[in-house]
Parts: sequence; structure tokens; C-alpha cells
Amino acid sequence: MLHNPITSLETLAVHAGIGEFNYRPVVPPIYQTSTFSFESASDGAALFADEKHGYIYTRMGNPTVDALEQCVTQLEGGHKALTCGSGMAAIHTTLAALLQIGDHVVCSDAVYGPTTTLIQTILGPLGIESTFVDTSNLDAVRRAIRPNTKVVYVETPGNPTLVITDIEEVCKLAHECEALVVVDNTFMSPILQQPMRFGADVVVHSMTKFLNGHADVIAGVIIVKNQTRYEQFRKVLNQLGGVLGPFEAFLVHRGIKTLALRMDRHTKNAMIVAKFLVNHPAVEWVRYPGLKSHPQYEVGRKQMLGAGGLISFGLKGELVAGREMMNALRLCTLAVSLGGVETLIQHPATMTHASMGREARIQAHITDGLVRLSVGIENVDEIIADLAQALSKATQPAPMAKIVVQKADPQTQGVHNAVL
Ligand SMILES: *Cc1c(COP(=O)(O)O)cnc(C)c1O
Repeated sequence: MLHNPITSLETLAVHAGIGEFNYRPVVPPIYQTSTFSFESASDGAALFADEKHGYIYTRMGNPTVDALEQCVTQLEGGHKALTCGSGMAAIHTTLAALLQIGDHVVCSDAVYGPTTTLIQTILGPLGIESTFVDTSNLDAVRRAIRPNTKVVYVETPGNPTLVITDIEEVCKLAHECEALVVVDNTFMSPILQQPMRFGADVVVHSMTKFLNGHADVIAGVIIVKNQTRYEQFRKVLNQLGGVLGPFEAFLVHRGIKTLALRMDRHTKNAMIVAKFLVNHPAVEWVRYPGLKSHPQYEVGRKQMLGAGGLISFGLKGELVAGREMMNALRLCTLAVSLGGVETLIQHPATMTHASMGREARIQAHITDGLVRLSVGIENVDEIIADLAQALSKATQPAPMAKIVVQKADPQTQGVHNAVL
């Protein structure tokens, strides 16, 4: 338990949510049990009637899971949190709690691929309407909001284009129309961005990524602002059932202890790698929130405390060169996911964002040549040496190809030249 008012995120990451357990352990124990016995029949009845605090059944609550929820709540500056079995379970629970038949959701067009698929192919047939827009464009958000819009769902920076949405401005627009704003904060973690400070109503995370940080758990979390919302979400999560198990909760809580340290190293390494890529002759464009060339660099500076560990870039030799480079890497690992201690590289158009279809990808500027890099905490010189040797093996482009491609996609802006 924290007795002094502690506000720094570094200290909270280490101490928040430790709780008070029998025998005074320094780390919350793993309550690996599905159910809890009642002292008496009336005790069980009191627990069910919510007249007494305690535990009944792990889908409805578990001390190890509670400890993690308290930790994440404090880091995000929310009221309470609900952990889920995956980031997708957190997103599904959130949307299921907030949307009913006939309602409409406005969603960032550059979001985690399965989020698009969830909204379009699972919620769509249940009668929930959706519009996908570039939420970095406030006019587009304004135009997309309708009388039946209940949720504006924002991922910032967006996956995988790293487009940045102004959380504060989108919240103003949405709140004028009585819509709630949900922010997927996975790419930043609460160390680098706290969306509720800018008005967000609900924050979700895939804790599989930076929060756990060690690529060994699938987990998600929802953070809410008040007790009414918490009760509403808890009921939905209880019925949908996508909860987190105690062992996973223990692992994520353990991972969070080093979150501030890791985010610092991810950000420092990514900045150095981004600059290396910008200056590399085989690289066509680089998008990283820490570079002044990023189209929403100023918005990022307003709401982010650091640029994070993700970089997207395209090669002059396009998809073919990208594949050659990815196959030549030795240290950087070819795998989806992100936010772990190891550097991972992947190709969204054929991997994480394949399911959304090419048309939707092009609308969201997810071009076929885009490569996504999650920069780890390794020695940065060794990351760069690996990228350099792999890039040297990638085919250089035919000069004509580039001209044709630039004409084919006039929408691209700034450094974000399309590579088809
Ligand atoms: C990975 C990810 C998700 C989904 O999380 P899972 O834990 O894989 O279900 C959602 N949003 C973002 C931004 C992600 O990177």
C-alpha cells in the first residue's frame, strides 16, 4: 500500500497495486484458484448481494488480478480497471458495453487490423454502424459524427502508419455530440501518454505489448473514469467471460515494474534507428513520431511524453526489397507483435493488416511496401549493424518505378510517399 502521495510514474510502476496480503509479501501472490469458499451460507449470500467485500469465483474477481487492475488504474489516472484475456477481449467488451443495435461508431482508419475486422464483420451484422476516418483530420471526424454516434474510437499513434490523433480536440468534438471517446493506448503505454488527461472516457490496452513487455503473455485491460461505467463494464465482462487468469496477471504486474525504464530505452533506441533509416540510401521514407518530418509532430509533442518504440518505413525497392531485407536480418526477429524487449519486424499488408483488405489498407495509407519495426532494448549499435547488413542485401529500385508510384497515390503527405 502506498501511504505517501506518490505521483511519479516511475515510482508508481514499481509500487502501485501491491495490496495487503497475509504474511506481508512484497509481491502479490498468485491466487491460482477458480473459486473461493464461503465461511457460511449467509456469508456467501452477503458476497453475492455485494454487502461485503470478498471473492466468489475468479471470473468475477481474483486478488492477483485486482492487484494488477489497481496498478494500471493508477498509472493511467483512471477510476478503476478491468483486465481481460487479450487486447481484443478488452476492445470487444468495451464496444459491447457501449453500443447497441442502431448505434454508430466512428473509428480511426489506421488501427490494429482485428479491431477493424471486429467492428465490420462481428458488430456490423449485429446492427452497429461504423465509419472509418483519418482521425488526425478533425474535419473528417466532425463530418463522420451522426446523431446516433455513441463512440469515437481512436488509436494514436495508429497502427501501423503512426498517424497521430489530437486526443483533446477529438474529445471536444465527440463530447459536444454526447459520444464517448475510447483510446487504444497500446503503442504509448501510460508512461508516454495518459489519454484521460486529455478527456478520453475509456482507455484500452493490449497488455501483451509494452505493459507486459516480455512477449510471453496475451492480456488486455480497460480503464474507466467512474463507478457507474465500471459497474456497467464489469457486468458485460462477466457475461462475455473474456477475463484474465491469475498467472497472466502476475506476469504482467511483474513486467510493469520495469515499464518506465523500458519505455525510456525503447524511445532512445528508436530515435537513433529512425535517424539511421532516414539517412540510408535504400530507404524511401520513414515515419517516427520523434522526427520533425512526422506530419503530426506538434500534436505528438502536446500529448506524448516520448515518441515510443515503433517506426514504420518503406524501401525504394518496395515490397520485394522489403522482403529481401526482412529475410536477411539476424538479430531483429521477423515476427508480429510489438513492445517486447526484443526488436521485431513485420510486414502489415501481408501479416497484421491482411484481413482488412487492400482497399481499406490503401484508404488508411497502409501501403504494400510499409515495414513496421518495434525497436527493442538491445544495444542500439547492434540493432543498426543488423539493419545495415540486411539493407545492403535488398535490391535497389528501377528509377522509373518510383515516379509511377508517386503519381498513383496523390493522397500521401510529407515523408509518407507510397510504396506500392
Ligand atoms: C496487439 C494489439 C491489439 C490486440 O491485442 P491482443 O492482446 O493481441 O488481443 C489491440 N490494439 C493494438 C494497438 C495492438 O497492438
